[in-house]
Amino acid sequence: MSKDLHEDLKLFNSLVDELLKQEQEAPVSKSIKTEELQKKIDISLSDNPAIRDEFIKTLKKLILYTPKTATNRFFNQLWGGRNSKAVLGDLLAVMLNISMATYKVAGPQIEIEKEIIKQVCKIVGYGKNGNGTFPTGGSMSNFMALVMARDKINLDIREKGISQKLVAYASENTHYSIAKNASFTGIGKENVRYIKPNTKGQMNLEELEKAVEKDIFEGYLPFFVTATAGTTVLCAFDDVLGLSSICKKHNIWLHLDGAFGGSVIFSDKYKYLINGVAKTDSFCFNAHKTLGTPLSSSVMVVKEKKDLHNSFSYHAPYLYQTDNDDYNLGLTSFECGRRNNALKFWTLWKSVGKKGLGKIINHEFSLADTAREYVRNNPGYTLYSYDDSLAICFNYKNFDAVNLCTKIYQENKLMVGHGSFNGDTFIRLVIVNAGNSKEDILKFFKIFEKFVLENKEDIKKV
Ligand SMILES: *Cc1c(COP(=O)(O)O)cnc(C)c1O
Repeated sequence: MSKDLHEDLKLFNSLVDELLKQEQEAPVSKSIKTEELQKKIDISLSDNPAIRDEFIKTLKKLILYTPKTATNRFFNQLWGGRNSKAVLGDLLAVMLNISMATYKVAGPQIEIEKEIIKQVCKIVGYGKNGNGTFPTGGSMSNFMALVMARDKINLDIREKGISQKLVAYASENTHYSIAKNASFTGIGKENVRYIKPNTKGQMNLEELEKAVEKDIFEGYLPFFVTATAGTTVLCAFDDVLGLSSICKKHNIWLHLDGAFGGSVIFSDKYKYLINGVAKTDSFCFNAHKTLGTPLSSSVMVVKEKKDLHNSFSYHAPYLYQTDNDDYNLGLTSFECGRRNNALKFWTLWKSVGKKGLGKIINHEFSLADTAREYVRNNPGYTLYSYDDSLAICFNYKNFDAVNLCTKIYQENKLMVGHGSFNGDTFIRLVIVNAGNSKEDILKFFKIFEKFVLENKEDIKKV
């Protein structure tokens, strides 16, 4: 057994060496059409074991063709890069293979999660009753917030189901998880009111207040508002302070979805973007987005720990047999067996300090400034996003953004996505990889313009 493990770990190291070499030499993997996958790589499973050499060859191919999200050509989604201290933590988590349910099976790993939650509650300003958990991601964090808000309205809902006409509010730019979560929680998708954003993509406060008052007048019970710190397309930050006074007035739970931009709490320079976060009822952010830990590492904190308990604890005597229940985290999590997603964030935080986390954020905002200045100061570009944002949304000359993004990916030059706001569709360059330098960002535009010049006949125009 242990001989196998030693050999496989050696193999792992050699595969990783190869991957790192490829990332230098060919930072964008060759894209394969889905119907050709099985022809290019022997993914099929059969009754018989693979011969070791074939097995290794297949693994190498698999690595070769997998999209390279850690390189300086990947700007496609809201994660990217690779923080080495966080990678170290995550690899250790694989080897330790504990479940974060009980102190008995997780030991000091529980304190690691608790310490992060405690520090985040302190930074957010939640006071002594704060608590939290590590859900599987931002969508799950938003789900848990919605459940807590629902149960706070009436704890009997847990036993009897919903009998009141509950309504939730979100901006039109809210992450799509709110719609799914409304369906999962029994609120119903039709009972989410989507509030028009202002021109900068922030939730419009007057529109929200109007909608709440109209609903109350019509006999509905407003109970939940979700604000966003870093909307998925424009990376706009809602006015948390303004929203909190509306919510307070009407006794509505305010959740701040900071999956993308919530990590600004670590930066003295940019934390003003979520001014008022202390007045929210729950808040979440994804360390695997702007902070560069491997997927996934999501933190969700709540101002009143009893809300987390009320909605998520379940008495399971076969499980919680020993120790102080504050250390049996299964009592406040959604899952039963739960992966240790805290250790990778802890190894990062421990090694660079809160100051270092702040530096990561500041660096990304400064790279975003570089990209925005480039778009503003060079001919042919139109900018659609705003200052103090990690998304740079732009169009180039009269080229169709969707077609251009697809072609530049199919030709293995760059991975970048597109988005829409207010009827405009554009290329969306997201700056979430702190491993990049200013030169990497300028190189993006160089490769981009060269590609357009060489392929201008083939790219659709608008
Ligand atoms: C990414 C994101 C989510 C979803 O997070 P996952 O971890 O992918 O589930 C939710 N809200 C916002 C604003 C996001 O950017």
